[in-house]
Amino acid sequence: MGNLSSLFEQNQEWADNIKEQQPDFFEESAKGQSPNYLWIGCSDSRVPPTQLAELAPGDLFVHRNIANVISHSDINSQSVLQYAVSVLKVKHVVICGHYGCGGVKAAYENQNLGLIDNWLANIRDVYRDYKNKIENHSSEEEKLNQFCELNVLAQVRNTCHSPFVQQAWAAGQDLSIHGLIYDLQTGLLNDLDICVTSAKEASDL
Ligand SMILES: [Zn+2]
Repeated sequence: MGNLSSLFEQNQEWADNIKEQQPDFFEESAKGQSPNYLWIGCSDSRVPPTQLAELAPGDLFVHRNIANVISHSDINSQSVLQYAVSVLKVKHVVICGHYGCGGVKAAYENQNLGLIDNWLANIRDVYRDYKNKIENHSSEEEKLNQFCELNVLAQVRNTCHSPFVQQAWAAGQDLSIHGLIYDLQTGLLNDLDICVTSAKEASDL
């Protein structure tokens, strides 16, 4: 039987440290949230959004799934997007992929993995759309890196075309959709120079 004692101990230490620096932090935090960012990232344990951007609890509204996919038929990610954009009125939606993504690699290798194949079909669609661009590279590593970047682009596009984002722009809401990629080898975020701030820009993407 395993136990979670180390998790509880570390949690106590974490809460004590925060209270030492800011005694009313948790009291204030319990009153409500108004984050500026919605972060859509991969479930990969090596890409923890709050830590890698040195942010505090309350700064990021987060949705993570395998390979940071935003699918119009996925009620989970669409609900997060609606709540973040329409209710919390975040100013930025960040789609963050990462190099070395196991979900993207599995989609590329086209293996038979069971239930997850249904999810990976979303990423295989991206491959079909960009096959020439991906296969244009010579090494497998370069192909996968390019695929990871293009998956971010495709998910930014899906986000921009979600009805909630389109409605927010139509209402004049200040909202930008960004595409970033995290490098596991360096611990750094790379800007993919994707920043969409209006329905018009989205239609040109
Ligand atoms: Zn991943």
